[in-house]
Amino acid sequence: MELWIDADDTLWENNVFFERAFAEFADYLAHSCYSREEVRALLDEIEHVNNRIHGYGSANFTRNLEQCFERHSERGVSAEDRRHIRQLGEELLQHPLHLIEGVEETLAYLSLRHELLLCTKGNHAEQQSKIDRSGLVRHFRHVRIVREKDAGTYRGLAAERGVTDGACWMIGNSPKSDINAALEAGLGAVYVPHRHTWHLEHEPVPEGHPRLVVLERFSELQRLF
Ligand SMILES: [Mg+2]
Repeated sequence: MELWIDADDTLWENNVFFERAFAEFADYLAHSCYSREEVRALLDEIEHVNNRIHGYGSANFTRNLEQCFERHSERGVSAEDRRHIRQLGEELLQHPLHLIEGVEETLAYLSLRHELLLCTKGNHAEQQSKIDRSGLVRHFRHVRIVREKDAGTYRGLAAERGVTDGACWMIGNSPKSDINAALEAGLGAVYVPHRHTWHLEHEPVPEGHPRLVVLERFSELQRLF
């Protein structure tokens, strides 16, 4: 069996650091009318457009914060404002790498029985840095850092790997890019929800789908495979 495994918020914590940076940004913007949730919605609009053009990662997130500040600041934008916002982005590049509970031993177990492929999307250098710092690469036979994780990406990867339906599962925390896209491409999918999943990745997953399994914890993969 071939198991493809997402990385951010599946193997290690990621989005929680972006959420913290956003909270600091919203405090810094200190808008007189907009609540934090409303600022979040304004940033979402910008992210939705820009992610299609520029992709993901902290450099793009920082650019989005800067645009949000330019549009909505009530006091103009000073050089100090730009410096402060860019600092928030740079801190994201250096956040500590916290593995999610049970990941290390579960990968050790799975790698003895199946062929593991790490499949993550984002900026290549940034994702590679996290993979290196995680110390998990020894469990994986293959690593793929892709720009977008949609059905087309999974079909291409399935053709490249020569896997057939029923012999390959995508495992991850994102309903949109790990689960629904993999199901659409004909793969099996294992959804391991994470409470800090980036909300632009939220979507309903199908109920009772024959190729979908939902687990509470990553370590439960040891019962499944
Ligand atoms: Mg993820």
